[in-house]
This record gives sequence, C-alpha cells and structure tokens, in this order.
Amino acid sequence: AGSASTSSVRQVKLDRESELRIEVGNDSPLRLRLLSGNAEIFGTELPPEIWLTLPPRLKIAVFTWYGATLEMDGATETDYTADETPMIGYVNVHAILEARRNRARASSADDSGATQGPRVIVVGPTDSGKSTLSRMLLSWAAKQGWKPTFVDLDIGQGSITIPGCIAATPIELPIDPVEGIPLEMPLVYFYGHTTPSNNVDLYKVLVKELAQVLERQFTGNAESRAAGMVINTMGWIEGVGYELLLHAIDTLNANVVLVLGQEKLWSMLKDVLKNKPNVDVVKLQKSGGVVSRNAKYRQKARSYRIREYFYGPANDLSPHSNIANFSDLFIYRIGGGPQAPRSALPIGAEPAADPTRLVPVNINRDLLHLVLAVSFAKEPDEIISSNVAGFVYITDIDIQRKKITYLAPSAGDLPGKYLIVGTLTWIET
Ligand code: ATP
Repeated sequence: AGSASTSSVRQVKLDRESELRIEVGNDSPLRLRLLSGNAEIFGTELPPEIWLTLPPRLKIAVFTWYGATLEMDGATETDYTADETPMIGYVNVHAILEARRNRARASSADDSGATQGPRVIVVGPTDSGKSTLSRMLLSWAAKQGWKPTFVDLDIGQGSITIPGCIAATPIELPIDPVEGIPLEMPLVYFYGHTTPSNNVDLYKVLVKELAQVLERQFTGNAESRAAGMVINTMGWIEGVGYELLLHAIDTLNANVVLVLGQEKLWSMLKDVLKNKPNVDVVKLQKSGGVVSRNAKYRQKARSYRIREYFYGPANDLSPHSNIANFSDLFIYRIGGGPQAPRSALPIGAEPAADPTRLVPVNINRDLLHLVLAVSFAKEPDEIISSNVAGFVYITDIDIQRKKITYLAPSAGDLPGKYLIVGTLTWIET
C-alpha cells in the first residue's frame, strides 16, 4: 500500500472500525480536520472542523469507531486506509483496566492491596507499537477522568523527556497528538546513555529509585493509586534486555503484562510469571500500521527530541547561552572510572569497576557537545538517588580562561550545582 499524493485539499471517507494511516513528509507539515463523524488519533478524539497541523515526519493513524469524513491539505509521504486493525483487542483491554480501576476506588482503604489499580507494562520487540498502545491506554483512561501515571523506561526513544532518561508523569488529559505529553513536572532520572548495556546495574538502580518514589506518592494519593500506571519499555527483549524486563515487572509491581507482536516473548513471560497468580500476561496483536524505524532514523529522532527540549516543539522557546567558571560546576560520571589497584584486593580477586561509583570529572574539551543533567542532589552522595531538574548542553570549553559555555533552557543560576555526564551527545543543527 501507500501512494505519494498531490498537495491539494482532499477528503477521505472512513468506514466504521477503520483508520487512515499517514506519514507526513520530511519537509512540510500536513493539515488535517474532521468534517463529520468521530475519529481519534491514538486514543485522543479529534475536535470537529478544526484544522490540526501535523509536523513533518509524524506517523499517525486516524481511527474511527463508527465512521468519519476527514479532510487533508498538503502532501504526505504516504497515506492509505486500513480496515484491519487490532483496535477492538486494545479497547477490550482498556475496558478490563477500567473495571479494575473502579474496583480499586470502591475498595476499603484498610486493604491496601485492593485499592491498587492496574499496573500495566507494555512489552515487545522494537517497532511493535508499544509507545502507541501506552498512549492509547493513557488517553482513554484520562478521557474517563482518571489520572493514570505514565512510566517510560525507554531510554532510546522516550516520550516524556530527552533520550537517556527514565521518567514518570501523571496523565491528566488525553495526550495531544501533535504536542505530546505536557511537561509540567515529570519525575526524571538521568541514565546518560541511549542503550542499557552501557551500565546495566545503573539502569536497574534508577528503575528502583523511580519505583520507590512512585510508591510513596501512591500511598498519599488514593485517586492516582486507583488509576494505576502504564509502563512503556524498550524493544530490547533478548538476553540482558529480557532480564531488565523481568526486573521492571518485579520492581514496579506490574500486574498486567501486555505483550505485543511476539509469541515467544509471551510464552516465556507466561511461564516465568506463572507462580505469580495476580499477574496477567496478555498477548496482543501488533498493528500493521506501525512504521519500522532504522538506526539512522532513531538517531535523528533522538536529536530532534533534544532540540525540542531546548527550543520547544514549534521553535517557541529561547534557550540561553551561559558562561561559567570551571570552579562553579561540579560534574560527575556514574560508573567505570579508575579501578581499585590490585594490591588493595584480596589475593586472587579481580579488580572490577563499580558500576554505580561516582567519579568526579575534570573539565576538558571531551565534554564538548555532551548533554548533561542537572541533579536535584544537595550532596554528591545523593546524586545517584536523586532525580534531575533539567539538562544543559556544552557548547564551548576555554581551557586557557577556565570558562565553560553551555546552553540551558533559561538564563540565571542552574537549579542545582551537581551535573551528571554520560555519553549522550548532540550536534546542534
Ligand atoms: P520502539 O520500541 O522501537 O521505541 P515502539 O514499539 O514503541 O517502538 P511505536 O513508537 O509505538 O513503536 O510505533 C512506531 C511508529 O509507528 C511511531 O512513529 C508511531 O507513531 C507509528 N504508528 C504506530 N501505529 C501506527 C498506525 N496504526 N498507523 C500509522 N502509524 C503508526
């Protein structure tokens, strides 16, 4: 399927339970509006008549339950209609989750187990539609008035903040198909790399920290506890990736595991979780509309995401270039670093780099083009367990004058004095 199209205004009539799949072109946006009927983009309803501007490269589906007429203005990379979708299966899952939320809300506060709403974790290979399904489940729940917590463990292509982070945020309204998730005050931990193999132990430590904070928040908030969580994961499902999925399921106490597009993963998880009777492992069909993205595309998407952090989704923010003295900033790296000398170890023991060891970093030109996180830590030994306030981007290092120039979302003092560096780079374009 798929057809290059002209740039005139055209109408598309959708039959019930079908969707229009669109890949917006690389260079220009596409305008789209709902003329009649009802339609939604990944769980969020389209307002009638109003033109939406879809930015370049966006890949979406406009789905209708009962039929709709749409109008498009502009060229697309591809657009086609599909009447085979897994949406009925997805909305059935939503209905089951909804029943569990209602049951949790109605339960007595004395029974803390019963007041916990569903904790859904979405797993599957890369490009199986995990982020999209997470988004739908969140938007459908928000439409019913719930404020479920979205937890994004995908350090490669996260939807809450920049890459290299794990994060959580309550979803209070259906997610805007164009604007994405509003960044009020997400809970963000900086891992600093875009693949977990750089430091598997650190990844686990951060998931655990995030889980503990969420657990505390739920204790004081019955509504959000009943609304539950939707957890998006990475597409790495083999070997260590699989181990990390089990770790996430366990650490976040997930009780619904949705497996997208892979029979083998479903059967493995079903088997290993069979002695946990309160955990349901559910197999779901992958949508034929999910667009595969290669390594180059993913790298580009990461870069856009960082750009968006500093400049805003529509170039509507003005970041500030700041200059600091070397002595004003305290930069740390987590893991690796100098190993214990052999002489300090028991005979026969091998020196190993402690993966969660905090290593002070000397400022030099190696920091150029790296994206650093600003920690909320008050002391260095709190850095690993602290979430981060935001990010800076190093644009110049003047060794002679001992000055460092960095881009920050705003002018003025940073919200913390400790910075964390990993391997996350960005070349401003
Ligand atoms: P990864 O694990 O690699 O991050 P994923 O499994 O989370 O990927 P998604 O991000 O949900 O996959 O989907 C991949 C791309 O396909 C996204 O750009 C998404 O918007 C698009 N997409 C998903 N479903 C559809 C659909 N039905 N029609 C058109 N595009 C779709």
